[in-house]
Amino acid sequence: MSNNDLFLRNGSKIAIIGGGPAGSFFAYFASRYAAEMGIDVSMKVFDRKSFCQRGPRGCNMCAGVISENLFNKLEEEGINIAQYCVQREIECYCFQTQEDGVLLHHPVSGHTPRIVTVFRGNGPVQSPHEGNVSFDDFLLNHVKERGVEIVFEIVKELKLPANKGGPVKVIYGDGDARNEIDADLVVGAFGVNTGMMEKVCKMGFGYKPPKTVRTCQCEIMLNPEYIQKTFGNNVFVFALGKKDLKFASITPKADYVTVNLVGKTDLTRNNLIDFLNHPAVRRLMPEGWDIPKSFCMCISKIPVTYAKHPCTDRVVVLGDASISRSYKSGIESAFNMAKLSAYTAFKYGVSEKAFMNGYYKPAKRLLARDNLYGIIMLRITD
Ligand SMILES: Cc1cc2nc3c(=O)[nH]c(=O)nc-3n(C[C@H](O)[C@H](O)[C@H](O)COP(=O)(O)OP(=O)(O)OC[C@H]3O[C@@H](n4cnc5c(N)ncnc54)[C@H](O)[C@@H]3O)c2cc1C
Repeated sequence: MSNNDLFLRNGSKIAIIGGGPAGSFFAYFASRYAAEMGIDVSMKVFDRKSFCQRGPRGCNMCAGVISENLFNKLEEEGINIAQYCVQREIECYCFQTQEDGVLLHHPVSGHTPRIVTVFRGNGPVQSPHEGNVSFDDFLLNHVKERGVEIVFEIVKELKLPANKGGPVKVIYGDGDARNEIDADLVVGAFGVNTGMMEKVCKMGFGYKPPKTVRTCQCEIMLNPEYIQKTFGNNVFVFALGKKDLKFASITPKADYVTVNLVGKTDLTRNNLIDFLNHPAVRRLMPEGWDIPKSFCMCISKIPVTYAKHPCTDRVVVLGDASISRSYKSGIESAFNMAKLSAYTAFKYGVSEKAFMNGYYKPAKRLLARDNLYGIIMLRITD
């Protein structure tokens, strides 16, 4: 067996674990490069959840801001975000301190930013809308139309081949089921809110998951006219002098605002209640408003370091579970890394060496400066 055997060819099977942005973008780029190189591969994306459900059960829990860079890159690829996903078009960021707020306009005057807000799942638990507004579901449907099969079942285990170069076994199925398929390439796009990270770590090829902290978020339903009048098309970012918070924001949607808190360590519901009760936040809420008895809320993890060694022969891990931007535009980062790793797989093969040189090392270089600036900016606002 030589490294020459570790290439994708006609009939190769690709299993993608996770139908979040990293998984969908990988499937998209893989189908694009396969077509460009004239290779006929089959792809399955596995996800344990359906994004048609409301609330955290159907949601990959995030503020849902699609950055302008990503918006433009998607458009270049012919992926035009469906209007039913768009909750609001954002014009500005408002930097809010304890006393006052200031609007931060785009540095180029007259430029209209192309930033939009979306729901990752099918909206908050109590949301009254009809149909499906999920951004992640939209992306999955896009790759489905390109011939990718979507399997809504959980992946339980991966087994590396006994002989170098053999296919990887993917064991999946709901309940007690243990269905098995062989894959010539397994893509780990399972994010950081899953036990899959530990399982892959235990496979022993050197993968170490990124360190994470627990963030806290909730959706507050407000009258659309009130949201327009008070928040407008602006994402509010708060610097309230709270030592436990690294980042706090309120992102306006159509009839909800999404509250996001990221801490220096794990946050809990108490941090959220504390934030919502802060006078600077109360001032933005309608007169007489009180924290509702029940609201859509979740605690989700965010990676704060990179994973180590996210690949071996026929396996590559990407997205949040691997290497991503610190505290910012994780979806765009998933797009970039999916493109890089899919290109590597088709052009340079699916060996560990190909992924280390074609994906992991360039990804680290690409993100190094970006993350350094991000960390400096956060320290300054701290
Ligand atoms: C508080 C907060 C706010 C954020 N705000 C933004 C923002 O505004 N804009 C932005 O760009 N980014 C934001 N992010 C980051 C963004 O959410 C992530 O970077 C992005 O979701 C990563 O995509 P992913 O595909 O790697 O992982 P995920 O989105 O987590 O997707 C992983 C998928 O894998 C599936 N899965 C896991 N294990 C299994 C298994 N064993 N079998 C089958 N399926 C499995 C899960 O169900 C899930 O659908 C935010 C993150 C947090 C925590």
